[in-house]
Amino acid sequence: MTLFKLVKEHGFSEVFVLPNRPYSDWTLHRKDGAFHSNADFIRDDPTIAYPWANACLICVWAYRPYDDDSFVPAYYVESNRSYHAMKNLIRRLNEIGIRAERAETPYRTQLLNAGIGCRMDNQLWFYAPYGTFTVLWGAMAQLPEPVEYTPSHANEPVCDHCGRCSDVCFGALDQGSFEWSNCIRSYLENRPLPERFMPELHSFSGCQRCQNVCPQNPQERIPVPALVREALDPVRIVSGDYGPALELLGKNRKKPLLRQAIVLCANQKRIEALPYLKQLEEKYADSFQSELQYAFRLLQNTENVLK
Ligand code: SF4
Ligand code: SF4
Repeated sequence: MTLFKLVKEHGFSEVFVLPNRPYSDWTLHRKDGAFHSNADFIRDDPTIAYPWANACLICVWAYRPYDDDSFVPAYYVESNRSYHAMKNLIRRLNEIGIRAERAETPYRTQLLNAGIGCRMDNQLWFYAPYGTFTVLWGAMAQLPEPVEYTPSHANEPVCDHCGRCSDVCFGALDQGSFEWSNCIRSYLENRPLPERFMPELHSFSGCQRCQNVCPQNPQERIPVPALVREALDPVRIVSGDYGPALELLGKNRKKPLLRQAIVLCANQKRIEALPYLKQLEEKYADSFQSELQYAFRLLQNTENVLK
């Protein structure tokens, strides 16, 4: 079976087979503080970290965004699905005698260096024909044959600097530059959400406004699956029924999920959440202090207005 077929069978749209090379420029940028702390785990030099590997397989998981952004950007559901697909793919490669393990490398930089994809304004990355709606996963592998790489789509500039993404973004600075710490999504792992972002949180995991307005992106949308709508009801989550949501978004996301659900209950004026929020306060006051204070303030005001 060809590698491409195997990758497709696991749900990915495409795989790029890159040689195992260092990427010292990226490492220097990280030292300068250019990246969010999620980049801390990335290995400095894959030729040292994975000396046995002759290839880095970067797999593209393309998805279509939802037609309603008030639940969660489809990215997060697809990120979890594709994470499991990647684990299965690596297991399968090992079964057929190909040594492989997940690559902790900066996939986008590696692709860009190989002439694939396009860096857009506002820190967006574009891969034709999927636009910015992709999740990438990489595996280091020891392939039986030398790695011959032919790009299937070159990184032609796609962004025309129309400014629409930066017009709708909290993080945008002048002329398409970007400060990651101003992007609401950079706070959604497990850090308290700064107060200034709380009124702006309207769905789990925040915001994809920049991608929605980009005219270069595919315009097709799919309905939010019923499973997603039901699992991501914020009152359901603060009531303690968060198992289905964790199935969708990743089992290690309980704290960020609760943190965001508290704020969403407040922003959606769901006063029926108040008893559950009081229970959360008793249990987790230290962990969710600022979010709970915000929610009590908003919901108690709403309750007073309704009386
Ligand atoms: S919205 Fe305009 S400026 Fe922003 S990435 Fe898309 S094309 Fe570029
Ligand atoms: S996700 Fe939202 S806050 Fe982050 S860059 Fe896009 S528009 Fe800006």
